[in-house]
Amino acid sequence: MPHAFAPPPAPLGASRAVAPRVSEIRAQLHFDAEAAEARAVATVEFATGDFDGKPALDLRQELLWVRLDSKNISTDAFAPLDLGAGWESRTRVLDVDLPAGSHHRLEVGYELGTPDAEGAKPIGWTKGGVDFDFWMSDLHPGRYLEMWVPAPLVHDRFALHLDITLDGVDRPHKLLANTAAVDATPGGRHWSLVYPAHYTALSPMLIMAPAERLETRRSAVRVAGRSRSLGLVVAQLDDAGADLAACEADLRAWLSYLASRYEPWAHGDTFWAVLWGSTRGMEYDGATTSSVSALEHEVFHSWFGRGVKPARASDGWIDEALAAWSTSSRRSEHPRFLTEELGLDQPPVELYPPHPWSRHTPAAAYSDGPRLIGGIAHLMGGADRMRAALADWYRANAGKMVTTDGLAAHLKAWSGLDIGPWWARYVHGRD
Ligand SMILES: [Zn+2]
Repeated sequence: MPHAFAPPPAPLGASRAVAPRVSEIRAQLHFDAEAAEARAVATVEFATGDFDGKPALDLRQELLWVRLDSKNISTDAFAPLDLGAGWESRTRVLDVDLPAGSHHRLEVGYELGTPDAEGAKPIGWTKGGVDFDFWMSDLHPGRYLEMWVPAPLVHDRFALHLDITLDGVDRPHKLLANTAAVDATPGGRHWSLVYPAHYTALSPMLIMAPAERLETRRSAVRVAGRSRSLGLVVAQLDDAGADLAACEADLRAWLSYLASRYEPWAHGDTFWAVLWGSTRGMEYDGATTSSVSALEHEVFHSWFGRGVKPARASDGWIDEALAAWSTSSRRSEHPRFLTEELGLDQPPVELYPPHPWSRHTPAAAYSDGPRLIGGIAHLMGGADRMRAALADWYRANAGKMVTTDGLAAHLKAWSGLDIGPWWARYVHGRD
């Protein structure tokens, strides 16, 4: 079956790199706190798509060995290549030509260290303990699951099984992940978990730390559109210094408000929020890791950003433009629901990186993005009309993938306005 959002084949000498369809990824992550070393073994089940070629799957770790369909191949035959979107957007490509529509199994063994990607964090080794966080980001290529486990680009959905073992730790650890399917062995040193099969590489959250460093509160909140209440897990690492009860109260209010305003909750039976000492935040499917000040922005992403998901990394600007426009943040340059005329005489802005193998959200999405939404809200006759249009767009697409063209078509159809010139200038950077 063709995959509508997969990037087209990228020329590679006489051959080409192609996006595979991944069905399942299984990985064993083994942490040895005494040696301050970690290793992993991963198996990826995939099919090639509509094209013959060399499959591209990324992993930002040092390889020890590689097997394709039970045969050893050289680690050099799974090396990172620039497919035209720049070196930062490089991806590993299997140097084996595979026929279209065939099924394969890739197995890799690797050292687990600091991922080879801008802004990635090392594994935190402490005496007798381990601090580990997927620490994903939209801002730099290679900062999704592929930091730790071989993974496809964000258009692909797959089941992810993880088996995590800790050795050399002298106290129980706690693991928080945005899936109900976690088996924890008593003692806090071994977990086996499965994430839902509709997740993509930007969906799974994982935090692991010594149990005494993680304070957790559990409650439930009633939200519109659900017959059962939604579970709420709020946790903080000991460097967050947050008032957890106050954060829980705010989260309950935001979840209830967003579910009433935009409907339906597109995730599982629980929302997870983990507060940390960092000033930044990151959204996952029905979950976030966040500073206290970014919390409202991150909860909003469970609707716009992870409730409707970017079909390609280049569509990720939408998430930040809408979140920055709709929520209040100390760091935002614009007031919530900005409504202000935006002429066609301002410098062009590129929010959508044009190369099909691009893999990041430009930082301008946080500043020029809400400015654009505010300008279109002005054209449409006010913030309320923009919010109603966004609510309709969300309801029509909840749980699905969304695109930049799709949002433009919706806003145009909803309002009857030709927003094309604004989109061309302030999304695609055309003069
Ligand atoms: Zn955001």
